[in-house]
Amino acid sequence: MEEKVFVAGHRGMVGSAILRLLRSQGRNVITVDRSILDLRRQTEVEFWLRANQPTAIIFAAAKVGGILANSTYPADFIYDNLTIQTNVIHGAHKAGVDRLVFLGSSCIYPKFAPQPIQESALLTGPLEPTNEWYAIAKISGIMTCQAYRRQHGRRYISVMPCNLYGPNDNFNLETSHVLPALMRKFHEARTGGAREVVVWGTGSPLREFLHVDDLARGVVFCLDNYDEYEHINCGAGEDQSIKEIAELMASVVGYKGRLVFDTSKPDGTPRKIMDSSRLRALGWRPSISLEDGLRATYEWYLENICKSE
Ligand code: GDP
Repeated sequence: MEEKVFVAGHRGMVGSAILRLLRSQGRNVITVDRSILDLRRQTEVEFWLRANQPTAIIFAAAKVGGILANSTYPADFIYDNLTIQTNVIHGAHKAGVDRLVFLGSSCIYPKFAPQPIQESALLTGPLEPTNEWYAIAKISGIMTCQAYRRQHGRRYISVMPCNLYGPNDNFNLETSHVLPALMRKFHEARTGGAREVVVWGTGSPLREFLHVDDLARGVVFCLDNYDEYEHINCGAGEDQSIKEIAELMASVVGYKGRLVFDTSKPDGTPRKIMDSSRLRALGWRPSISLEDGLRATYEWYLENICKSE
């Protein structure tokens, strides 16, 4: 049977990177626009999957957001994510799709999991309260894949990315993650001549960042090579403090003013780095350094965000 990979969420940062990679490999990919198929509508999802018969699905559709968005819109985060993932996984099974890669997130792990976080840490302790709605939905998605594997023998797997960045990220200051937020703040400070940029929190939390093109290689690698019950981590393997990251971003953007830490904003979890040794042992490794990745993303930002605003 000829391969036909459905990338769900192809307009997002992750889905678009996966699409670019699969197309560059000459593989047969299908997508559907949100205006045609709303993944929250179960009957429509089932109908579309039966009609289009993909051989595999990469599930990169999700409602995502940074620390503020998660605490402001908990209902949207839990409802949208639970609904779209359940519809797609169940619909895939009903349509006879035997292969599916579900994408989770490193924030599904317990707040105080031993670092670097191993796959086995899942469900061993309380979650970080600022994003527990999203985390609970993603944990349910992993377990839904496991349930369909156990009951129906479906080869559904889950890949856990660390914090990501790259083209098509969300640069809205209210809802974005830290890297696009800082890129925008420094850019606007430099071009507007401001001498201060506010960075949220104390600057001490540690985060691991992977360029989305490296994640895309990891996900497609797993589609082709990984077929196990347990989810698998896909991270850069190094972390930095928010302060160090802010300084690096300032130098990439060319901002020379001061950094002011606003400690009235939440820090979130103190450290978040995953142990990705299982995926590395299978043969995947990241190839884009944080500095190179940020430079490339800043070029993308100048071309695509600044010009269209
Ligand atoms: P998290 O990794 O799930 O905690 O999500 P974020 O990327 O939103 O935040 C990571 C860390 O960066 C937190 O400690 C934030 O307080 C800090 N941070 C510093 N400045 C900003 C900012 O402008 N926006 C965001 N979203 N986070 C920031």
